[in-house]
Amino acid sequence: MRRWVCPSCTGGVNAPERMHHDDVRRFCLACSKGSTRLVRRACPALEKTSARQADRSAARRVEKAEERKREDAARFEACGVDVRLLSEELWRAFPIGRGRPPALRLRRVQSGAVFGRAYFQRCLISIGVGPSATNPQLSCTVLHELAHIYVGAPMLNGRRAPHGLAFNRALRAAAKRAFAVDLPLGSGRGYDLTRRIERVLIDRAAVVLGAAVPS
Ligand SMILES: [Zn+2]
Ligand SMILES: [Zn+2]
Repeated sequence: MRRWVCPSCTGGVNAPERMHHDDVRRFCLACSKGSTRLVRRACPALEKTSARQADRSAARRVEKAEERKREDAARFEACGVDVRLLSEELWRAFPIGRGRPPALRLRRVQSGAVFGRAYFQRCLISIGVGPSATNPQLSCTVLHELAHIYVGAPMLNGRRAPHGLAFNRALRAAAKRAFAVDLPLGSGRGYDLTRRIERVLIDRAAVVLGAAVPS
């Protein structure tokens, strides 16, 4: 049984917590007589409970959101950084990098260091991180894949030339902006420039780009 009280005359009745919505005990008939509408009684105890429940579910929602954020950060964490943020940061090193950064897929691999793949039609880069991955390798691989997205699929004599001159020029300019690594283009073909950039980053020991993931 609960106390149901009229807000106008403060008179009350004892009635169950749950009643039919038109149960007569929900209304103060004395006050209703002087009004064109039924005057509804309130149940302060129930109102307090529902306010508490609302508070509790708001707190739960906040907690859930924070948990999701933590899970999300963990999903994209590698080598002490949030790889998604790293990718967004490195994307800005390309001249058109002010647009939306490519989507990122992060995979854990069982062996090796860092592997990358770019799907320029889907505007997606896929990064595989192995147990021996280091931050400089990761940074260099992400930049390399972003350069693929930026350049697209250049053709040379009717064949795809993914690591051609256009690619290496874009990579060189981006490495200069992102890491202040200013290297000569060299042959401008293949992985040569990528390897040299990576070596400089490894020698520097710690290029921690991207927001550090709180531990
Ligand atoms: Zn009343
Ligand atoms: Zn490549």
